[in-house]
Amino acid sequence: MEKILVIDDSPVQTQFLSSILGNDYELTARHTSHEGLEEAKKGIYSLILLDVIMPEMDGFTLLRELKATELTKYIPVILLTSLSDVQYEERGLLLGAVDYVTKPFSPVIIKARVNTHIQLHRYQMQFRKQAMVDELTGVANRRRYEEESISRWREAMRFELPFSVCMFDIDKFKAYNDAFGHPAGDEVISRVAKTVANYFRRSTDFFARYGGEEFVGVSVGSDARSAFELMKTIRQAVEELHIPHDPGVSEWVTISVGGITVLPRHGDSYDACLKLADGMLYDAKHLGRNMVVWSNSNREKWSER
Ligand code: GH3
Ligand code: MG
Ligand code: MG
Repeated sequence: MEKILVIDDSPVQTQFLSSILGNDYELTARHTSHEGLEEAKKGIYSLILLDVIMPEMDGFTLLRELKATELTKYIPVILLTSLSDVQYEERGLLLGAVDYVTKPFSPVIIKARVNTHIQLHRYQMQFRKQAMVDELTGVANRRRYEEESISRWREAMRFELPFSVCMFDIDKFKAYNDAFGHPAGDEVISRVAKTVANYFRRSTDFFARYGGEEFVGVSVGSDARSAFELMKTIRQAVEELHIPHDPGVSEWVTISVGGITVLPRHGDSYDACLKLADGMLYDAKHLGRNMVVWSNSNREKWSER
């Protein structure tokens, strides 16, 4: 059942809404704007019904907060009010409310509007999800990576945590395509992606297809040594898929891995960090491929299989 958050200082109103919508949706009520905002940030709601007139913070102010907060900005908000003044309606819609209903409520109208906006929200979320996922592999795509990498970089900076970024590249993949054909190559990209993604499942990790046969991983909180060890495990896991390569190239399909762990400081740039990781990948290729090259914040460099 989809979840709806009702933010209204009047228990009578929330009770009434519950009686109208309670059979079809899971309703949670909060009676102040502050509590409502905190609850909304849980990120579990498909719709918010928001009273405009409340003590402390009014509904318009809260609406502005909701639309400015990453976790809540995509939740549709329907404003509830007894103010039938057109100016209020304009203001609410301009601030990003999807709809507006005036008290006293007609149960039929409330129900119809809620159903419509829940449905639209569902489509929108599905669309957003698809737009962020790489179709071939099912892992995050480049667009999502661009957003995630920067927000995680900033997070590491704010909490003074080590930040690791890692580039993966399938070895001699052009030769694979030439030997087995493009569709078989696609299958390999997908298997390698799923295998590596399995090692990036903590909420502090992120993994994406960077493009072609290249992938990128980001991790916050691991020290350089453990990141390096993990990458060696991943390199091995891919080799152990035992996907036959073109015999003229190597026995199995393998990956080269290059990355870096740093402690980001104010003024440091993420792009510079990524460039260093890319340099490590370049070194891994030159050391003979199927190799991990890692660097820490002291610019010490380790390379191992
Ligand atoms: P290296 O070990 O230096 O990485 O050699 P490589 O051949 O993998 O590198 P290069 O960058 O020269 O070629 C990458 C190849 O990956 C070229 C292209 O045919 C293949 N490739 C890129 N994207 C895809 C894809 O989506 N599907 C398939 N099947 N192949 C792809
Ligand atoms: Mg490449
Ligand atoms: Mg390659």
